Amino acid sequence: MRRGCISLGSVKCDGCHQVIPHSERYLIIEEKDGVTVSLCVNCCLEKGYARYREDKRERVLTFFPEPVQGPPDTGL
Ligand SMILES: [Zn+2]
Repeated sequence: MRRGCISLGSVKCDGCHQVIPHSERYLIIEEKDGVTVSLCVNCCLEKGYARYREDKRERVLTFFPEPVQGPPDTGL
């Protein structure tokens, strides 16, 4: 299970062990053995759980709800 969340300022990233600043987005991932980890945006990008989609005006952060199979969609 993966869930995108907004930090309330009391969440620590389990990847880089830094506090996720208030109102920053982060991802909660529940692994098979029931362990839940929180990952900041940087760690999500590093591990391939999120990416920035370039829009015409801005960069939009996208969290992947599940692992991506194959090449990402283009042209949509
Ligand atoms: Zn992190």
